[in-house]
Amino acid sequence: MDTTLNEKRDIKISKVQTVLVDIPGIRAHQHSGADMRHQSYLIILIQTDAGIMGIGEVATAGGPWWSGDSVEAVKMVIDTYLVNVLIGENATQTVHLMKKCNEVVVGNLFAKAGIEMALYDILGKSASRPVHDFLGGACRNTIPITWPLGQKDAASDIQEAKEKLANGVSRSFKIKMGSLPVLDDMRRTLDIAKALVGKAQLRIDLNAAWTETTAQKHIPALIDAGIELIEQPLERWNHLGHARLAQRFNVPLMADESLATQHDALSLANCGSVQVFALKLMKSGGISANKDIAAIASAFGIDVFGGCFLESSIGTAANLQLGATLSSIPWGSEWIGPLWLADDLTIEPIRYANYSVCVPDAPGLGITIDVDKLAFYRRDKNLVLSSAAPIC
Ligand code: MN
Repeated sequence: MDTTLNEKRDIKISKVQTVLVDIPGIRAHQHSGADMRHQSYLIILIQTDAGIMGIGEVATAGGPWWSGDSVEAVKMVIDTYLVNVLIGENATQTVHLMKKCNEVVVGNLFAKAGIEMALYDILGKSASRPVHDFLGGACRNTIPITWPLGQKDAASDIQEAKEKLANGVSRSFKIKMGSLPVLDDMRRTLDIAKALVGKAQLRIDLNAAWTETTAQKHIPALIDAGIELIEQPLERWNHLGHARLAQRFNVPLMADESLATQHDALSLANCGSVQVFALKLMKSGGISANKDIAAIASAFGIDVFGGCFLESSIGTAANLQLGATLSSIPWGSEWIGPLWLADDLTIEPIRYANYSVCVPDAPGLGITIDVDKLAFYRRDKNLVLSSAAPIC
């Protein structure tokens, strides 16, 4: 690299801090593997000698049941192995730094996604531009929302969906399945579908809870009920099983648990397993990897959807920075974490309007962390944040 240019743009990383926080949700959220009442985050604060602080966030699906990753394990990996990789380096060399992280730690994609998020935040702030300007520019400033319905009884879910419809929050609903016995689960889903079909778009997410024979038995009734998209019915490794379902049934399938890396994307595409990819920064190691996966999807004629782990406004902003730059995002997104949370970690939360989420356009990720909220919700209240005045 040209030395003059390098010296001119050098923004050295001086300190990396990781903070565990727990924020309550507005209601319980039922996955096949977890009953979430709150969401835990690992907030990553990367300080630089230029006075710019980058903010990153790691979120999981309510613990390690989803991928093995947990915010506690991610904190240990970052603190023990990755902080030393970053200190003293030029924060704006995102690709170079992630390569260095990959040399020291294999996998641990959630940890890397959180670090890369903070580095992109620094990159954007250093140029006073939103991150999407570094990803090819925004194609859109709003993205339609799908609201997840994750309560145990149909009546509560129907009530919630009607409120979201009436309030202009969402006219698409993703029914979370897999936490009840199959027949109870089907009854609940069909009851919800009956109440909403014709008024809203309806999808389901099995979180890999079914076997192939269970899927073959019950998918016809779901199609008849108006379900338009089926997310991850089978185990993450079962690419060929998904391909058989995709061949047999006239309803699109979406990969979520099955899709983390670019290699997963290629395998799913080559097997003809699904028609839609759920993109999530966390599970794939960050923005850059998701750009690759979106390119693979495009090359194979596969649609994309913006998936989430109920991120706060921080992680949601990062997802939006990427989502704004995709050439198309035909299934919209479920970037609703800030609406599910009873509180948030930023001064201004992500905005929602007209059944859509709005892309932030302030520098970096486009959010400003609320240090008082961070102090209030942090799990370890005894540690004191660095006194260096950050530019957030
Ligand atoms: Mn899912």
